[in-house]
Amino acid sequence: MKRNLILVLVLGCSLVLPWQVTVAQGLPDFVALIDTEDVMAHVRALSVAIGARPMGSQAEALAADYVAAALADWGYEVTVQEFETTPPGADEEGAASQPVTSRNVIGVRPGDEAMVVIGAHMDSVTDGTGAGDNASGVAVLLAAARALADFDTQHTLVFIAFGAEEGGDPSGADVYVESLGEGVDNVIAMLNVDSVGVGTTLNVYAGAVITWPEEEGAAPTIEGGPVWVRDTALDLAEELGLPFGTTPEETWGGFTGDWSDHYAFVLAGVPVAYFEAWQWAGAEDPWWGQETAEGDVMHSPDDVYENVVPEKVEMTAELVAATTYAIASGMAGAE
Ligand SMILES: [Zn+2]
Repeated sequence: MKRNLILVLVLGCSLVLPWQVTVAQGLPDFVALIDTEDVMAHVRALSVAIGARPMGSQAEALAADYVAAALADWGYEVTVQEFETTPPGADEEGAASQPVTSRNVIGVRPGDEAMVVIGAHMDSVTDGTGAGDNASGVAVLLAAARALADFDTQHTLVFIAFGAEEGGDPSGADVYVESLGEGVDNVIAMLNVDSVGVGTTLNVYAGAVITWPEEEGAAPTIEGGPVWVRDTALDLAEELGLPFGTTPEETWGGFTGDWSDHYAFVLAGVPVAYFEAWQWAGAEDPWWGQETAEGDVMHSPDDVYENVVPEKVEMTAELVAATTYAIASGMAGAE
């Protein structure tokens, strides 16, 4: 009995001995907790059982039901935020599309008033089945939510599966940020997961305000925002042995552009990290990059389940869970 008590005390203390304190060592072992099959089951559910999920479609609504049921099952408080949105011009003349109804699924685990938001979009284009873009990101969100459900954190966790990212006006992320009003100041970090199943290398970027010049192919102006969320993720990746990089120095320099759901948060002044599998080295267009050495799979008929690399999705889920925990527990934050 007594010996056990001493052992417990020793183990308890060993967590805080100064020479042992690194962020990674104070974390739950998310690499062990998250496995390939659980992550890929979500990719299958979304891209095989449901299939392509264009905004406003019944398939997008089914994906929302799937995410809502999973988050509720793990103890998150789930709300669904419905909104009207206009898809990008659908016909060849670019005539305006009719508005459709889309939705965000929001799962909250309450803590103090500071919020850490983890987001991924559910909708897809109609070429292929949106397996990489972005069933893979939603699978990461769900796997991280499942793994984090068992660990208390100081700050509030908010998992959001967004609708209408693929050119919806407004996008689900626009609608969510707008709905927070001044409460957006309580969002201390936003982690966006978009297309992590296919690209050549795994990456994490920081957010920047982007201005594109008139001239085609010219370099954009990049007004870099806070980098601590990206750097927390990159440091953790190194400690956990996960192979993540970022954008090249000569182009984006560790930042990313104005596409995807993070950008609504960037414009509201929220520090972001954006997780993506992509290829930057040797890309034909250095500002766009390419998804693989052979070119892009995303938004093509090849964006199907068979082309998703399980390990990429799994490793991203492990890093997103670890980064979220480190920030939400106060182990990592703004300098
Ligand atoms: Zn996407």
